[in-house]
Amino acid sequence: MRRSRNAKIVATLGPSSSSPEMIRSLFEAGVDMFRLNFSHGSHEDHRARFEIIRKLEQEVGRPVGILMDLQGPKLRVGKFADGPIVLRSGESFRLDLESGLGDQRRVSLPHPEIFAALKPGTSLLLDDGKIALEVGACGPDFAETRVVVGGKLSEHKGINVPSVILPMSPFTTRDRRDLAFGLEMGADWVALSFVQRHEDIEEARGLIGDRALIMAKLEKPAAIHNLDAIVALADGIMVARGDLGVEMPPEQVPVIQRRIVRACHREGKPVVVATQMLESMTSSPVPTRAEASDVATAIYEGTDAVMLSAESASGQYPREAVTMMHSIIQGVEADPHYRVLADAQHEEARTTHADAICRALRHVARQISAKATITYTSSGFTSIRAARERPVAPILSITPSIATARRLTPVWGIHSVVIDSEIEDEASMTRVACETALSQRFGAPGDNIVITAGIPFGQPGTTNLLRIVALPERPPALNGDGWNGNGQSFSV
Ligand code: PGA
Ligand code: MN
Repeated sequence: MRRSRNAKIVATLGPSSSSPEMIRSLFEAGVDMFRLNFSHGSHEDHRARFEIIRKLEQEVGRPVGILMDLQGPKLRVGKFADGPIVLRSGESFRLDLESGLGDQRRVSLPHPEIFAALKPGTSLLLDDGKIALEVGACGPDFAETRVVVGGKLSEHKGINVPSVILPMSPFTTRDRRDLAFGLEMGADWVALSFVQRHEDIEEARGLIGDRALIMAKLEKPAAIHNLDAIVALADGIMVARGDLGVEMPPEQVPVIQRRIVRACHREGKPVVVATQMLESMTSSPVPTRAEASDVATAIYEGTDAVMLSAESASGQYPREAVTMMHSIIQGVEADPHYRVLADAQHEEARTTHADAICRALRHVARQISAKATITYTSSGFTSIRAARERPVAPILSITPSIATARRLTPVWGIHSVVIDSEIEDEASMTRVACETALSQRFGAPGDNIVITAGIPFGQPGTTNLLRIVALPERPPALNGDGWNGNGQSFSV
């Protein structure tokens, strides 16, 4: 089973997509990595979905990634005594640490760290930016504000403080619990919400270690300010346009998106463009033309993956949304101008052996019209560096580690195959590469492939070999076209 596109699809699971049938159908329609959104649902819900995905993986014999997304320090106001209130511009409204139910004059905001960071003049946004307040007098446990943009405010609505770096960890007590649970299940990636500084990634790394990769969600102005440092430390990035468009003017989101995608590409870090991509498909079987264009733009910009949120989690047309995304990506990638852009956006390679080999790989593959670029990888590093080159021939990434194969699912162009054991010598490297390329239908006998690997085998960081091979005539001897008995590896 092989995808006919390079950019990947991430889809969020939720009430609309929790049955084994629906999850399988989403995978078949094109999902490469599923997102479990810990802002919603119980641990039992997430565990059930997790197990369905791992079972599906066995059935289809393809690695499927699982991204757990932590809610992070999403700030919320308290409750009101008599239901929602209506704030009018010019009125005053007080936020404080008192626990009593709110009214027209005040509401509880149970976050001392916010009050500590406020100054007269700071602007506060409520309910996804629909309501704006400006801070006047304030102290360690209260803020008097003036309503700048009014509206209806109901209990537990979110509050954003765009202009300030809040002195808080991206992990709430709840996040720590969720994280422990998700890592114990075996999530491949952890997404961190409301990252502000590179220290947030360091803190996450301290908790997660090498049990999962870390995806920083960029949705705060501070994170954009610290973009390069965050990109350098994280394993991947999500352009979290929902909160980003509240924290910053929405008209800046397209420019910031492009900046983030370029910064990630420069560093060779996979990047996912997320939120409202096909939003109207939550209740319509077809997207607006503007939404179709938005997905296409992200692909032209060179993003690794695009993501569905409500469309697949709680919408009425999850499968149609995935199918639509898949078709848009295919359409863009078939446009000759896409290739022109990919080549024009080429970033400098590092002065490492791995980058030298990967750059050569790209040139050689094009020069001889190779049908596949084969990368041998244990950590995934070589395959990611090869993907960064955006080679014309698809990347067939061979690894003995199912964990690595799953981690590579959101990365542009990578098709992973898991083998039973480490390769030990060049002869078996060539044989396995040829057999895999043939069995995965990347090429026919006589076609050329390009192989890269590191010798000695099995030692990370040794990428130093490039070899051109013509696929052999004799059909490869295969024991099956799927996973072996224990489901942990692919048999060749
Ligand atoms: P969320 O993150 O869906 O967890 O809020 C994505 C975003 O803010 O765009
Ligand atoms: Mn968000």
